[in-house]
Amino acid sequence: MSDKPEGLPAGAMTVEGKLGLLEYKKSPETHITLRKTGADAPCVSECKSKPCTTVCPAKVYDWEEHEKKILVAYENCIECGACRMLCPFDNISCDWPKGGFGVKYKFG
Ligand code: SF4
Ligand code: SF4
Repeated sequence: MSDKPEGLPAGAMTVEGKLGLLEYKKSPETHITLRKTGADAPCVSECKSKPCTTVCPAKVYDWEEHEKKILVAYENCIECGACRMLCPFDNISCDWPKGGFGVKYKFG
């Protein structure tokens, strides 16, 4: 049985499959921070749809319901830049990893 979801043409890879081909060198420091993380953070009550958890192709952001906060798995970032624009409350500060760290693309 194939892992390929229905609707994809023969030979096509899922996004998850493509991400699995990338190489990463984890930086010791995060390049992504949330400006507010406490009880007054917009993530807690104002931001109902939490677009960071759905738009980021690398699933860096995850809403932790129990702790009422966004978890940031910065080491998975593929540096697409989308989160610089997507947060409706300007709560994400996303820089780039220091040279030599982060994702390594094989083709370009
Ligand atoms: S999009 Fe912004 S405000 Fe909304 S949950 Fe994500 S970081 Fe928080
Ligand atoms: S730059 Fe792209 S991959 Fe990295 S956290 Fe932002 S949206 Fe996700």
